[in-house]
This record gives sequence, structure tokens and C-alpha cells, in this order.
Amino acid sequence: MELFPYEEFRPYQREIYEKTYTTLLTGGTLLINAPTGLGKTAAVISAAAKYILETGGVVHYTVRTRTELEPPVRELANIMRRGVELDYVVIKSRQDMCCYQQLKKLDYLEFLAECNLLKSMDKCVYYPPRDVSIPLKNVSAYIKFLCTAYSCPYEYAKARLNRAKLIISTYYYILGREHIDLKDRAVIIDEAHSIFDAVIHLYTVKVSETDVKSAYREAKKYGFLEEASKIYALLTFIRKMSGVVDLGDLLGIVEDLDLENAIWEIIKKKTDEKINPYTPLILLRELKNALKSRIKYFSEIRGEDATKVLVLQPLDPTSLVKEKLKEAKSVIYISGTLPISLFSTTLGLIKYSHIDISFSEYIPRQNYLSIVDLGVTTKFTERSEDMYVKIAQRIADIINISPGGVLAVFPSYEVLKGVRKYLSISIPHWYEGSQEVDLHNLPDRFFIGAVARGRYAEGVEYVRDGKNLLSTVAVVGVPYPEPSPYLEKRVESLRPRLGEKAWNSVYLYYAIIAVRQAIGRLFRGPGDRGVLIFLDRRYAEPDIWSSLSDILSGSLIVNELGEAKENIIHFFTSVLKVAK
Ligand code: SF4
Repeated sequence: MELFPYEEFRPYQREIYEKTYTTLLTGGTLLINAPTGLGKTAAVISAAAKYILETGGVVHYTVRTRTELEPPVRELANIMRRGVELDYVVIKSRQDMCCYQQLKKLDYLEFLAECNLLKSMDKCVYYPPRDVSIPLKNVSAYIKFLCTAYSCPYEYAKARLNRAKLIISTYYYILGREHIDLKDRAVIIDEAHSIFDAVIHLYTVKVSETDVKSAYREAKKYGFLEEASKIYALLTFIRKMSGVVDLGDLLGIVEDLDLENAIWEIIKKKTDEKINPYTPLILLRELKNALKSRIKYFSEIRGEDATKVLVLQPLDPTSLVKEKLKEAKSVIYISGTLPISLFSTTLGLIKYSHIDISFSEYIPRQNYLSIVDLGVTTKFTERSEDMYVKIAQRIADIINISPGGVLAVFPSYEVLKGVRKYLSISIPHWYEGSQEVDLHNLPDRFFIGAVARGRYAEGVEYVRDGKNLLSTVAVVGVPYPEPSPYLEKRVESLRPRLGEKAWNSVYLYYAIIAVRQAIGRLFRGPGDRGVLIFLDRRYAEPDIWSSLSDILSGSLIVNELGEAKENIIHFFTSVLKVAK
């Protein structure tokens, strides 16, 4: 049964469709790295639908963010429009799905308390959810339809979680703290390159000095004096300490902080008073539970004075991912920027199959000119004003000879600021962190100074009337994340398993993804053309070169960008001729 919702497969789509279907059927792990624009979501969702209809199996399709829910939902709607009936459910955070707009402005924990209060008092007109059948178009229409039918979309979806055959959700429902039984189920993880960051985000606990102060006041106000004095000890600890803190010390303070009774009583009293029953004691309970869990955490106190925040971050997101997915029958990781080898090493995958559609397979080599400049680096130990001047001169040259938009992606705000001082640009230009870029009104020629992993280097499109406005992407330095005690600890925790490769699994992994994301702003499909400039000699070193060889092979290697000036001008002239 063919469920693919389009006339014909585009290049590589059939391979993705068939391999996904086979993996769902036989079980196992499949890694798919395929560029954006190739249509992998349609291929994967169709294969999942075929598998469900033929075997009755269950598939979870998970995405990192709520906006990423749209593509799989849209493709499912396309399939169902052809008369296919599938028991599906779409679920994201309760607050996102809530029908009361005013509740969406509350902090999440306050929102939860308010929602529970409304439900317990029979004051939510959307609760309990009604059984309705929904025409599927997109996520917002799905939610709107349910709200119009007086059926809480979140409660509606939750009630169907265990019986639906296709669950399209955010990562939380698979990777979050709550236990989910994945036995005999299949999991598809979209945007899989970001899974480790997503897991870190899901398990991070942040408690500010203000939160602890409010918890202390509240415990006192409601007469829980013993609890209040223990909370005060935590407050003193946060005030006194800064930087990395010992988990043992922290646990010693919260270990006998029993808040269950106080939380229950305060919520009850507030409910009786008909006010939002949220209490900041809930946050402290979360902190204690995290510290007492089996998860290995790293803890530090950030900020100064009254803005101090205690942060707990999981040390080994890879083991959390493995633990969560160990029962699943099959797991399919898909992404447009998945470094297959680094990813599988980091995750400790031994047996897996993969589809790896490299950049050079998808984008014809004649469509781009790539240059590695050995004359500069942003290596931490070599950063200097002289180096920033050299980089600024190169960027100025790039802007002068580029016929379209230029995106320069810096490894950090620090480097961006350092270089920016020496740049004087006459065309419209923006710097991340200083000005908002009006993406809908970009002129023909412009410059954007972006930061790796920031909002202008990932996920955005620089297009007008379907045409990519960028002609050049310059990657300034290697976008390794800035070294931090947390990242160093993560390397340390991976070292027993990965040895020398542990550093690459943390630092190089992020850098490679950031480079590929930056390049993806210029190359959205095989029709795009442009120049890629790598301003750092480290691109010629083996680890980085081999991780980016599909892009870097055939690059001009120069000691100074000026040596490649004629090549760049020639490239743009011939590209413009072709375009005419
Ligand atoms: S039950 Fe649903 S609609 Fe009602 S407050 Fe909670 S989330 Fe909102």
C-alpha cells in the first residue's frame, strides 16, 4: 500500500521511505542525515502510516519545539486527505494547548496551579474534554477546533495517548521525566542533532535567589516555621556561594527538607481563598527530587547579588537518552545536520543502519566555491586585537565583492564584538544582539553579523519570492562552544567510555552542527549558489576536515583571502551569467 501523498518521489525520498518502513517493521536503529528541503518528513510520516495500517503498531513522532510540530502534522493531513483513516493524536505543552489566552502569560508552574484550580472548582468550561472527531489541517486549527467544541485540547490529547497509533508530540512526552512505556513501540526523533541539548533543557532545574526568598516568606506566612528555617539555610547558601558548588553540600541542606505537607496545606488554603494556588515551595521540591534522583548533576551558582540562580544540569545527556529509549522496538533519528559518526559514537550506538546524504551529493559542486583561509584563527589563545583587525579586513573584502547578502557567523559574542570594532560597512547591516533584522524587508545587498547557535545562524531563511538573498556565508573561526566548567565535566564523564574522543563528542559535535546550520542558510536546495568562506586555519586540520569533508573537499586553501579574490569574482560573474 503506497501512502506517499505526492505524485512522485523526489531524489532520495524513496530510499528514506523504504528504509524507514523496513526499520519500523524489523526493529533497530536508523540514522537519517538528509538536507532540509529534500522532503524527509513526508517520506518518514508516510512510511510510519503504512507500518501502522499494516501491522497495528504504534509510532511516536517527536520534535523538539512546538513550531516543528507543523511539518509532520501537515504531511499527516495530506495523507488523511486521501481517505486514509488513522488513529492519531497531537500533543505539546499543556500551556500551549490551553484555550484561555490570558493563562498563557503566566509562569509555567503558576499556570499549572491555575489550571488545576479551575478544574477542581469545575470552572474550566473546556474540561472535561468532549469526544469529537477533528478534521486535521495544522496544529493551530486542531487546537482551535477543539476549543470551539469546548474540549480542552491538552486533556483531549492526553486521554488518547495510550490508544492512539500515531502520536505526534514534542520531545517531552518521550524524553521528559515522566515514565513512558515504549515496549514494542517505535520512536522517530526529528531534529535529532539537538537531542542532547533538548534533554539537558528538560532536566535542568533553576532556582533563583528570589524564588527561595518567596518560598521562605510563604512557608512563614502559612505557619511552617521549621520548613522556613531550612529554606533560609538554602537562601544563605545561595547568597554566600558562587560558581561550581558541591552537590554533597547542596544535598546536605535540602535532604531533610520535607515539603509535601506544607505544599499540600498551602495549595488547599489558597484554593479556599480562591487565589492562584501556586507556591514556590513546589520549585524547591523539584530541586530536592532532582538532587535525590539517579541522574548525575552538575551544579553551579550563577549571577551576582540579588540575581543569583542555582542551576542543576544533567552531566550525561547521552545516558538519559539511552535509558529513555532502551525499550523501544525501533528508533529513527532524523536531521538535516546529523554528524552520523560523531553522533553514533557519542550515543554509543553499536548496531545501526543509516542514510547519509552528504552536502556534495545534494548540492552540485559547481554551485559553490569554498575557501579556507589559513591566515586567521579565533583559537582562544591566539585572540588579539591584531587578529580581529585581520578578520575584519577579510570580512570587508567579502562584503565588497559579494553581489548579494553576506552572513558572517561568529563563534561567540566576544569575537563578534572584537571584530566589529574594526568594521566600517556602507551597505545595510545588522549585528546579532544589537539590532533586530527585518527578515521580510531585506535589500539586495546586506550584511548580517550573527553568532553561532543564535537566531540568525539557525532556522531562519533569507529569501524573497522564493529566491535566496544570500550570496556568501563566512564562518569566522570554529564555533566550538566557549569552554565552561560544565562542558569540561561533561567531557570528563564521557572519558571512561570514549577516551580521547570524549572532547570531540562535546565540543566538536556542537561546532560541526553550527557550521552546517550556518551553511544551510545559503544552501536550501540544489538550485542555490554561493561562496563559503572558512576564516580559520583549523578547518585544514584532520578532525574538522574529516567531519566536514563533504563541504570542504575541493576548497581553495589560501594564506590570505586576497589570494582567492579573482576566483570569487569569477565565480560570481559566471553565476550571475547563468542566472540571467
Ligand atoms: S483544563 Fe485545559 S483549557 Fe482548562 S485551564 Fe487547563 S489547560 Fe486550559
